[in-house]
Amino acid sequence: MEQKYAIGLDLGGTTLKYALISQDGTILNYGKIPSMAEVSAEAIIGQIMKAISFMTEAAGQDRAVKIAGIGIGTPGIVDNGRIIGGTENMTGWTGIDIVSIIESRTGLRAFAANDANMMGFGETLFGAGKGASDVVFLTVGTGIGGAVVTGGKLFTGYGGRGTELGHVPVLADGETCACGSTGCLEHYASASALVRMFTEEMRAQGLPCDGADGKYIMDLCHAGDKVALKCLDRHCDLLGHGIAGFINIFSPQMVIIGGGLADAGEFYLSRVREKAFRYAMPECAAGTEIKGAALGNKAGCFGAAAMVFQGTE
Ligand SMILES: [Zn+2]
Repeated sequence: MEQKYAIGLDLGGTTLKYALISQDGTILNYGKIPSMAEVSAEAIIGQIMKAISFMTEAAGQDRAVKIAGIGIGTPGIVDNGRIIGGTENMTGWTGIDIVSIIESRTGLRAFAANDANMMGFGETLFGAGKGASDVVFLTVGTGIGGAVVTGGKLFTGYGGRGTELGHVPVLADGETCACGSTGCLEHYASASALVRMFTEEMRAQGLPCDGADGKYIMDLCHAGDKVALKCLDRHCDLLGHGIAGFINIFSPQMVIIGGGLADAGEFYLSRVREKAFRYAMPECAAGTEIKGAALGNKAGCFGAAAMVFQGTE
């Protein structure tokens, strides 16, 4: 079989990452430029076109490299190539039919999906989930994003509108979430939520805690700090409840956790694992492994390229 190549783009609020990737998972070229998300949709599209031209130029240097298409991971909800919402940090992005625009300007096939979905798909096919067909992916950062892969395919719900894993309710009488609902997993178990919890706890005890972030709290935990460890335990308990729910629904082979907190490795993952398995139904969890993500900030590009390979089979 002839090797296929794809351009994988990972669009974010500040950065546009781009890569030229082969079907066997090798990155031939990688780079990043500002996404210009604060300017306008046309500015964002201009940056996307710039990244594509870098990659087609790189591919052109080797006549064996034929590009099968362009995959785009973008913030927001994507229905049939069109961004239909959830793009608070992207000026003018809602309503843009990104697939049609990129296809008409490049003459190449294009595919688009939610950025967290792309990260999860990339991790499944090329990263920590390699070899697995049923995976739940969670990225725990400022918010909580996720992806579900079943039978080797990305599951997105009808019209691509589902798998907002950060917005499952975990507290019936909870606080207001960024999505407008209350008691969501994201509001209670994101890295930002851990920082908020720690800051409140320190203030309540009259202790200074200015500028605390996830890494600072994890460093304190490593050093055995009681307040930080108490907050981490609560964080893992809340996240564990969410993960237990996903295990009971999907019974995945793997739950893959990405984001800054998971960079702490087993110190963090073992605590999350202990809670998740405590709350999940043992029958549902029997075949489930919980592990850290492997592709770091390149996961989104891998997933976007994987979408091209799957869509052009
Ligand atoms: Zn929410």
